[in-house]
Amino acid sequence: MKERELIDMIAGLAGDKRPGLLRGIGDDCAVLEGKPGRVLLVTMDTLVESVHFDPSWHPPEKLGRKSVAVNVSDVAAMGGTPSFVLLSLGLPAGFAAQWADRFLQGFTGSCREYGCLLIGGDTVRSPDRIVITVTVIGEAAADQVIYRSQARPGDTIWVSGSLGRAAAGLELCRAGAYQPPDPLLEALVEAHLNPRARTAAGSLLAASGLVHAMIDLSDGLATDLAHLCEESRAGAVVEAEKLPACPALYQASSLLHLDPVRLMVSGGEDYELLFTAAPAATADLLRLAVKAGTAFSPVGVMTAGSGVWLQQAGSGQDAAEKIRIDFKGFDHFPGPAKR
Ligand code: ADP
Ligand code: MG
Repeated sequence: MKERELIDMIAGLAGDKRPGLLRGIGDDCAVLEGKPGRVLLVTMDTLVESVHFDPSWHPPEKLGRKSVAVNVSDVAAMGGTPSFVLLSLGLPAGFAAQWADRFLQGFTGSCREYGCLLIGGDTVRSPDRIVITVTVIGEAAADQVIYRSQARPGDTIWVSGSLGRAAAGLELCRAGAYQPPDPLLEALVEAHLNPRARTAAGSLLAASGLVHAMIDLSDGLATDLAHLCEESRAGAVVEAEKLPACPALYQASSLLHLDPVRLMVSGGEDYELLFTAAPAATADLLRLAVKAGTAFSPVGVMTAGSGVWLQQAGSGQDAAEKIRIDFKGFDHFPGPAKR
């Protein structure tokens, strides 16, 4: 059973009707009615030792910061701002007090930077691995929340920043290949160890009224765009040539013998924003990118069909040369479905 099949099973059993609930399972955050004209956004993400991080190379401060950022990213993806945080820590017996202190310095420092406050949580013993679960509660104007489900055929697909950086950074860490420090490669390693959530871009995009649908890129473009397509009942064609790569990505790819397009399409944890808007909004969005302090790149188009397709460089408009890439990103339970 794959991750999304399990989530579908959970959603089927949970039900989704309750007064005050605007959106339950299926978007970056649950959306609840808030004060008049406002909504509450609620999200939870877990980081598990050996699955999401390796303590032998992940400095505890940066892990603390990342634990906050990955959750804040989901709030940003709906156009909101984070307010409150809950932290559940599962630690093996005999954990180092110094590790906990450094982790919490990073965690609370990151909360302050994003303007939210740690208000509760839970502390438990874990058999042998560190498990970090974080809930973030955010807020947004009710008429500015951006869902995954409102993309329209013909929309331009945009991404913020550049792609594949965190995946390349992870591979550099695994290979021990980023020492001695090289500033270009260090930036990729930093993208893996200490990602930043795109809060400014998310708020500006939501307030602009230009964006139809939005999601953050946690599992990789191929998987996250597939989620957006499913929720919007539409398809997508992405052009490999248009994917935004930074120079360091090419440097790391050649050092590690990896395909940069594959890193950009399937690599997870960039925490960039993917959004769609009418083609007529292009000039306004490019202006907004300057204000948000990042690049916005048009990478493809939403279609009336289904599935996510990658148009390879030089293949022209020939449909036969497009490859289907839906859900080719990170899956916690890959492999064939089993009953
Ligand atoms: P994201 O990558 O944005 O964090 P996920 O892919 O983890 O989102 O989850 C997709 C949707 O499924 C979200 O709405 C999330 O809240 C929901 N979800 C995931 N796991 C569970 C679970 N165990 N129980 C209930 N809802 C879940
Ligand atoms: Mg998300």
